[in-house]
Amino acid sequence: MDNKRCTLFRTGHILGGYIFSLFTASYCSFIMAELIATFCHSFHYLLWPFVCFSLLLYFFLSHCRLDQWRSHSDTWNHLLVVTAHPDDECMFFAPMLLHFRRRKKNISVLCLSTGNYYHLGSKRRLELVKSCNILGIPEKNVTVIDESCFPDDPTRIWNEELVARTILQHIEDISPDVLLTFDRYGVTGHNNHISVYCGCRKILHDGRVPNGVAFLSLETTNPLRKYISFLDVPLSVLLASRIYISPLSDVICAQRAMFLHWTQLTWYRMLYIIFSRYMLLNTVNEFQQVENVPR
Ligand SMILES: [Zn+2]
Repeated sequence: MDNKRCTLFRTGHILGGYIFSLFTASYCSFIMAELIATFCHSFHYLLWPFVCFSLLLYFFLSHCRLDQWRSHSDTWNHLLVVTAHPDDECMFFAPMLLHFRRRKKNISVLCLSTGNYYHLGSKRRLELVKSCNILGIPEKNVTVIDESCFPDDPTRIWNEELVARTILQHIEDISPDVLLTFDRYGVTGHNNHISVYCGCRKILHDGRVPNGVAFLSLETTNPLRKYISFLDVPLSVLLASRIYISPLSDVICAQRAMFLHWTQLTWYRMLYIIFSRYMLLNTVNEFQQVENVPR
């Protein structure tokens, strides 16, 4: 084959391949479009049954108190919730707090900062006490740490050892039998939330857990699940090892507590109150189940 014919052959080969790939791509696009259309069509028919099913399941589990079978909390008598800022207690932990209140158990809150990012620490401390009062936690059971080593700042990571020591000292003072805090993602990814988790993890890693105290972490879900309210109930029931679902009266109670943090009431907090699953649902894990720590 001479050079001219060889070049023509190669050009034809490349052009043929190009046309074939174009055809394949458009055919694949056609299939994809068909698949998306079918999905949207099915979604339209599946959406409302799913909404109804989620709503029914929510009412069934919360109002018939059937969430007890998944909470495994009857052996505990004193819950300590460790938070990073005033308002964390009702934004994230209200369903479990109110679950304990319904059973007339002892509840304490340890908040590691005053929430002084906008220099409103003293006001926020008072808001926390009022919010806890609504949630059934007396003022004497609310402790707020005001130390420069725990600044309210999303860019600052607190020292693990200092967090661990502060929590251990508080456990020694009040003797809870179960501790609840954030998990490694801190629900919102806030560094202060994650620091509290890291302090607790250090206590477990170092084998310094006081006898008879269970450590629980609040599960962080993906952003979609976080803001679909009761629609997350079916998936949470399916996946979680421990679940706490608030009846409507408790959801309203949590919302009232949120409104008492009036310095924090922005438009996106209002949306959070309406749409967040954490206002009506907590799923928690034992630290030992999610971390490689000795039991
Ligand atoms: Zn916070």
